Amino acid sequence: MTAGEKSIRLYQEAQQYMPGGVNSPVRAFKSVGLNPLFISRAQGSRVYDVDGKEYLDYVCSWGPLILGHAHPQVVEAVAQAAAHGTSYGAPCEQEVELARRICEAFPSIDKVRMVNSGTEATMSAIRVARAFTERNKILKFEGCYHGHGDSFLIKAGSGLMTAGVPTSPGIPEGTASQTLVARFNDLGSVERLFAEQGDEIAAVIVEPAAGNMGLVLPEPDFLPGLRNITENYGSLLIFDEVITGFRVGYGGYQNLVGIEPDLTCLGKVIGGGLPVGAYGGRQEIMDLVAPQGPVYQAGTLSGNPLAMAAGNMTLDILARTDVYDEIGELGTALEEQLRDRLANQPVKLAFNRLGSMFSWFFTDCKVRDYDSVMTADTERYKAFFASMLEQGISLPPSPFEVCFISAAHNINDIELTVKAVSSFLERAG
Ligand SMILES: *Cc1c(COP(=O)(O)O)cnc(C)c1O
Repeated sequence: MTAGEKSIRLYQEAQQYMPGGVNSPVRAFKSVGLNPLFISRAQGSRVYDVDGKEYLDYVCSWGPLILGHAHPQVVEAVAQAAAHGTSYGAPCEQEVELARRICEAFPSIDKVRMVNSGTEATMSAIRVARAFTERNKILKFEGCYHGHGDSFLIKAGSGLMTAGVPTSPGIPEGTASQTLVARFNDLGSVERLFAEQGDEIAAVIVEPAAGNMGLVLPEPDFLPGLRNITENYGSLLIFDEVITGFRVGYGGYQNLVGIEPDLTCLGKVIGGGLPVGAYGGRQEIMDLVAPQGPVYQAGTLSGNPLAMAAGNMTLDILARTDVYDEIGELGTALEEQLRDRLANQPVKLAFNRLGSMFSWFFTDCKVRDYDSVMTADTERYKAFFASMLEQGISLPPSPFEVCFISAAHNINDIELTVKAVSSFLERAG
């Protein structure tokens, strides 16, 4: 119904040549049970599918496009860089510039290493943490996502004290046994694991505001508690700010709450829509990374001039304009208008928001951890997704993802969105 002929044809062909027809699983629209849309171009707040249909976009490439699609200055910066060569395999000035911008924006980061994805950033960060502490175990949280590295595709075992179990085949038991899993917003679950195995835990890795089980905000004592516990046990605290870095403000969520992790992982916004990741932190830790130190980590295309150009232009614009205020106000407007519309109607919708990022959950629970996320009605989300798409609005094709507002969105887009939500709810109620 929603997908046009050409998207349907392309998806069939794609499945012949690529596993599931896509290069990243969620794109296949499996959790919403529809044919995925193939996109031919995007501009500002809009994406256009190969059948010529226009959509107001809240996916924004899963977060990087804080300035909107094809921002003229970012496109120009990439084009200029490309004209000078797409990759040198040698140092270039643009890397130094992006590294300086990151170090200046994050008080906790003295030195930073560029990589090509968020996945690489988190994998490398735990390697350094393990080398620094000379310990092997890491602790993560149920519902947090840190890319697809073996150590992170782990969920809690049956008992809290047991090692984690893989969420994917192909992960060796030995690797899984080194990852412990605690509950987000539950310091007790962290304390218990540390009481048992604290002297073996190299690092706690956490999304300071969780964005991969939908948006779940940390309660006030959670992050300070993690900082205390890790310090007490000589473990490192790693903030995975791949989504939140330069999204919640010029810097990270850590700047908003005034907590300094030992290491920070970045990605998404710092690449301005090109493939980039980065990890950085205190000098004494980062100086372990080769060639300064013995911890090996490298990349053929790392710090390549195109990605650096897109990242630098994006951060430059963010630094000298009021983008954060503007997109935050749009977020507020959306929340307030929705609240008005949602009063007195039967379908319960929990709305979590942090500035320009937000999630809706069809539940009457307050959504504050993985368990409450799981109370959301996924069938209802399917219907919601389809209805919004029919009405020309593109949401993430999964109930447990975050929507993003970009600088290219405006108040008319917000009103359009609220109208579409109301229209869905009227029919659903
Ligand atoms: C997207 C994401 C990653 C992985 O980044 P990729 O570039 O997709 O490898 C890691 N951590 C968080 C919090 C993310 O949102």
